[in-house]
Amino acid sequence: NNHLSERINNMATSATLAMAAKARELRGQGKDIIGLSLGEPDFNIPDFIKDAAKKAIDENYSSYSPVDGYADLKQAISNKFKRDNNLDYGLSQIVVSTGAKQSLANIAMVMLNKGDEVILPAPYWVSYSDIVKLAEGVPVEVPTSIDTDFKMTPEQLEAAITPKTKMMWFSSPCNPSGSVYNEEELKGLAEVLKKHPNIFVVSDEIYEHINFRGGHISIAGIEGMYDRTITVNGVSKAFAMTGWRIGYIGAAEWIVKACTKFQGQITSGANAIAQRATITALEAPVSKIQFMIDEFHKRRDLILGLLGEIEGFKLNVPEGAFYVFPDISSFFGKTLKGTKINNASDFALYLLENANVATVTGEAFGNPNCIRISYAASEKELREAISRIKAVL
Ligand code: PLP
Repeated sequence: NNHLSERINNMATSATLAMAAKARELRGQGKDIIGLSLGEPDFNIPDFIKDAAKKAIDENYSSYSPVDGYADLKQAISNKFKRDNNLDYGLSQIVVSTGAKQSLANIAMVMLNKGDEVILPAPYWVSYSDIVKLAEGVPVEVPTSIDTDFKMTPEQLEAAITPKTKMMWFSSPCNPSGSVYNEEELKGLAEVLKKHPNIFVVSDEIYEHINFRGGHISIAGIEGMYDRTITVNGVSKAFAMTGWRIGYIGAAEWIVKACTKFQGQITSGANAIAQRATITALEAPVSKIQFMIDEFHKRRDLILGLLGEIEGFKLNVPEGAFYVFPDISSFFGKTLKGTKINNASDFALYLLENANVATVTGEAFGNPNCIRISYAASEKELREAISRIKAVL
């Protein structure tokens, strides 16, 4: 539509949300679709958090909050950073936003000038590249493969750096690969970055607690990285609070001020009730959500076992988040039930139309050989979905 801006015409629709919409549409036509495409825990919000929100309504938290978030929420976030990550972020180093997605958009808008390059180890979370492009930055994908557990090596990082490199963005645990960078691996990347003091890092740690190996490591805690790392986190995944839309960052004060200024013109700050409930969520010991982590762990083992029985699926062992990211490139060039499979998008569509299972093409995440399967679904659904997939292959 030429009445719309180039900005929006050039933007891709979120592939994960598009797949979810397509699955809903097919369900509306009476098809029994199993949705394994969305990055959303299938648990209810724990009752103690719901109670905190109800209390906040009764206490009339109904006005605009401070743009960067309530001071006592920022204190709870500061305590959480110390408790879980051994990071010191004072109140002037924290901004609360409408989901980590907005935190990322704020960062792009305040840090990037036209043409600034942002290194994205691929596969990366689907929105990174479009958020960067919206801010007129240039995403520079660094492809990794299943052979390095989808992690970028220091050599690959070094090779991707140019005089225009402004930032590097990554998530660990990673959406979509489930890979978790260990301390040695992060130190390796930090060694390279030490030689390039003008490069900033966005460390997206939203899956921090959903880590089956234990011992989450924040790159901001690695020597030399604190001042130039922006640590992004939120409550969507760990507390099953996706719809309540609270995310936050810890960063240098000047970055925080800029994000607050930007947000002050765009949203005026995050939802008041959800902010109050987030205080309660973050103050709770991690043991309160351990049942979800344990359940995801069990399901990961289940789905790896089931997928392992399907010939042609190449799997890594994801150590966190709630996705598997099998390499299905062995099917490329084959014809299944009259449908030619040329790429991962054809494969995902084939599964949707023939097995009634919604997954997401790896192309959306910068990896054309894989598909992403979310296992944030019940054991019964997972068993049924994988058996259907097996049957149509
Ligand atoms: N970062 C990653 C890696 C994600 O997977 C997601 C959600 O899917 C987000 C950020 C956004 O989270 P939020 O719901 O806080 O906006």
